[in-house]
Amino acid sequence: MNKTPSFGLVVLVATAMSVAGLSLARAQQAGGGQPGTQWSEAQLREAVALARTGRKLTPKSWPNGSRVAVCLSFDADSEAPLLRDGNTSPTALSASDFGAQSGVPRILAMLDRHRIPATFFVTAVDAMLHPEMLEAIQKSGRHEIGVHGWIHETPTRMSADEEERLLDRAIEYLTKATGKRPAGYRAPSWAFSTATLDLIQKKGFLYDSSLQALDEPYEIVSRGKPTGIVELPIDWTLTETPFLGQNGRMPNPAFLYQLYKDEFDGAYEERTMFVLTLHPYLSGHRAPMRHLEQFVTYMKSKPGVWFATAADIAQYVKDGQK
Ligand SMILES: [Zn+2]
Repeated sequence: MNKTPSFGLVVLVATAMSVAGLSLARAQQAGGGQPGTQWSEAQLREAVALARTGRKLTPKSWPNGSRVAVCLSFDADSEAPLLRDGNTSPTALSASDFGAQSGVPRILAMLDRHRIPATFFVTAVDAMLHPEMLEAIQKSGRHEIGVHGWIHETPTRMSADEEERLLDRAIEYLTKATGKRPAGYRAPSWAFSTATLDLIQKKGFLYDSSLQALDEPYEIVSRGKPTGIVELPIDWTLTETPFLGQNGRMPNPAFLYQLYKDEFDGAYEERTMFVLTLHPYLSGHRAPMRHLEQFVTYMKSKPGVWFATAADIAQYVKDGQK
């Protein structure tokens, strides 16, 4: 027999349900899909604590009394990001292959003309598909090769275990292919996950070049503790992808190079560091290459400019802190 609940109980349950529903709706309305609006002070502090700025590491002077350290860095992505997404369109692949076939050789020839070093961040899959590119980068003995993931995976979209598996594979492949364990890491798409910092510490990297909190070298601090990892920060204004890429809105590289020049002049005045990040599949085309070479010529015309690999800069600022 079903016992009919008393009228009083019905009212009580209905009221509790409506109160719960109301508070949930209120919370949703208050946040409006913006969870941070509901976080406490402790939660806000915790949310930013993972990878913060520690000591500034700009030394009192750069080697040979130079005023500024300049790192020309190239994220030498070719087919890896497309293959990661399963994109096998020959047209799309060929546009990316341009980086390995034309961009990198052109950039290397320019660097050779000026006898300056650079750092190339490479995915293991692109290294595998382009052994000739790796060989060409290594030929002069001036350039550095850093890790840029296995297949340009996005660390924020996978578990820590999977991120570690792919990072191990990338380190192993690049170590074997170059004969040297890479000292530096730049996250694919510059996208640190919450596990990335722990992983690069565990794997013994000297430096990272993915974060952006300062425009000079610093030590990364995690939850209040210095990590010993040198950060050589980058910036979305000091790269060309948002401007010259498929969604680019600035087809004339002259505007871009005016911006790079002003940034360099500022770093020169501040006696700190200038890091430029370019992508050979974009910047290796004829028009931007003309501007890049003019820019290098300009920087070289100033006294006291130390062109160095990211690893040499990181080692120098780390040694200076001892
Ligand atoms: Zn990349």
